[in-house]
Amino acid sequence: MTTALLTHPDCQAHRTPPGHPERPERLQAVTEALTAERFALLLREEAPLADAAAVLRAHPQIYMDILRAEIPATGTVALDADTHVSPGSLDAAFRALGGALRAVDMVLGGQAQNAFAAVRPPGHHAEHNRAMGFCLFSTVAIAAKYALDHHGLSRVAVMDFDVHHGNGTQDVLWDEPRALFVSTHQMPLWPFTGTPEEKGAHDNVLNVPLPPHSDGARVRAEFESKVLPRLDAFAPDLLLLSAGFDAHIADPLAQLHLREADFAWITERLCDIADAHCGGRMVSTLEGGYDLDALAASAAAHVGVLMERGA
Ligand SMILES: [Zn+2]
Repeated sequence: MTTALLTHPDCQAHRTPPGHPERPERLQAVTEALTAERFALLLREEAPLADAAAVLRAHPQIYMDILRAEIPATGTVALDADTHVSPGSLDAAFRALGGALRAVDMVLGGQAQNAFAAVRPPGHHAEHNRAMGFCLFSTVAIAAKYALDHHGLSRVAVMDFDVHHGNGTQDVLWDEPRALFVSTHQMPLWPFTGTPEEKGAHDNVLNVPLPPHSDGARVRAEFESKVLPRLDAFAPDLLLLSAGFDAHIADPLAQLHLREADFAWITERLCDIADAHCGGRMVSTLEGGYDLDALAASAAAHVGVLMERGA
């Protein structure tokens, strides 16, 4: 078996204003890093456009209608202080979602052991009725619902190790008893949600906040004591990852102190969970990461482990 890589040039056509951290160069840095010789065996596919109906697994039609009406003919429009859309934004968001869903199809269909969707805009802050935090569609939550409802899985776990709380994924999966959502994130930090008291309607949410300046040892200890036992107990049929790399020490938007080796270790431990319960089936989707070099190196470390474990 192998590791699939899903991406598409249209994901770079989502533009943000000058100086905005969530910029096309992020994805360019990641995809360039993945052209190195050691990634030659990746099973590469273009991310397809998701069906409009797929978006409705997480968002109401009125949300789509309003979002579509906001798309400008030129330039960018602000949906809130952080979240902007440009003429190419919807295509990018549909490619991002299509990449994640195609990755689920490939992994559940046995064409790949695991997969990485290198896409943007990110998705984990988009709530069912609100775009926010650079995110338009709640991509990974939709992928979870798709795996449950379209593929008929019984249990899907989402692990979000982006430095920000995945409030959107949590919102969409809040009352979904077949999904477990686990998030590690810096606290305090925007969006200021993600306390341990937020447990989901069916005790299906686990938030593990981390104080600023937590290093790799601290984060690994939290994984060992809280994250991994909870994922293990849930025994998912499929493990989805919201793979943000903004907990890196070099990242300008947060103050955690992870390095590439820590992201590799996290990926290895999550592969252990996938091996134990999911037949190794894991789908990872890019979320944040705003220092281009740290993002590229961390994503490469992550995908390198996926390839080792998916071989
Ligand atoms: Zn983030």
